[in-house]
Amino acid sequence: MRQKKEPLIRHELDGSFLHKKLLNWYNKNERPLPWRTLWKKHLNPWHVWVSEIMLQQTVIKAVIPVYERFLTRFPSPTELAIASSEDIRLAVRGLGYYRRFDMLHKACITLTEGVQGMPSTHDDWLELPGIGPYTAAAIASITANEPHGVVDGNVERVLCRILDIRTEPNLPHLKKEFKLMMDSLCAKGNPGSINQAVMELGQTVCTPATPDCSRCPITESCTAHQNHSQHLAPAPKSKINFVEINLQLKIVRYQGKILLVQRPPDAKFLKGTWGFLTNIASGPDFVADGTPINLHDIQILKPIGTIKHSITKHKITAEVVAAECMIPSKFTKNRLVDPEQIESSLVSNLDRKAWNLLQKTSVFS
Ligand code: SF4
Repeated sequence: MRQKKEPLIRHELDGSFLHKKLLNWYNKNERPLPWRTLWKKHLNPWHVWVSEIMLQQTVIKAVIPVYERFLTRFPSPTELAIASSEDIRLAVRGLGYYRRFDMLHKACITLTEGVQGMPSTHDDWLELPGIGPYTAAAIASITANEPHGVVDGNVERVLCRILDIRTEPNLPHLKKEFKLMMDSLCAKGNPGSINQAVMELGQTVCTPATPDCSRCPITESCTAHQNHSQHLAPAPKSKINFVEINLQLKIVRYQGKILLVQRPPDAKFLKGTWGFLTNIASGPDFVADGTPINLHDIQILKPIGTIKHSITKHKITAEVVAAECMIPSKFTKNRLVDPEQIESSLVSNLDRKAWNLLQKTSVFS
């Protein structure tokens, strides 16, 4: 006889109790983040959509100022659809992972070309470019009360502790199980708040290193709390194998202005962004990162120092040098910018760090 399949996780949770405790706690402790305030005031899915895209791989603190600047510039998908890619990159400068905003742009163009307007269901959201199951679930649960649970790193940690799971939290079979648990909690009502409650609990109380169980609303349901094993559940995630890269960034001056080049589509890093001339170390030399330049036109003035920066799995050490340019017309896709305008013209934090380093010297003064 065929044996009955064992459940992946054995747990006896009282879902209704958890649901009630989490909602009560969230109603009293919800932080007034700008996207929450705007949603309550205007019930406009655009405000939620933009926040969900910006919060991908990015901490709340970094998102808030950019979110406000972005919505002032693009109050609806219509304004974003007709904007240039460069305008959009400037509006989200500093956030990184710029491809997500190319996809948001594409989605807004799709919307404005169609006749159906803003999506209203989880499945409609999934049809748009750049929207995967997580984002569709987050938006639909908040804006349409659809019972789709979300599972991010915070949710994984909280659920691992509730169940005292001491493996890595993001194993595929756990992800599936956690999704089912979140779906079932959402199905008990108020899915948008439940999703945000679990994430908020992970961000503010059930933190990775020092969970503050004395402030937690669900200690009675938490097995790790009962077993005093919060520090064991979950196990740390495997370390990412970072790739070390050495770069050289040239901050080039020509007649008092600073040269910015647009990195071409075949650049290894920061494709399409305007920034300083970028060269990647190849053996003992630096070769242009997809930027067609004639190095004979540049005279190096002085090395300024080095900066550290990470882009996805690349750990970058960049040597920053100041240089004078002789014949700027030799550069393709170049622009000369007043030094006062540089800060607002740079999209990437890599370039911004290099510029800040230069400001601490007197090389161009
Ligand atoms: S009781 Fe402690 S470990 Fe358990 S979920 Fe709450 S904060 Fe996390």
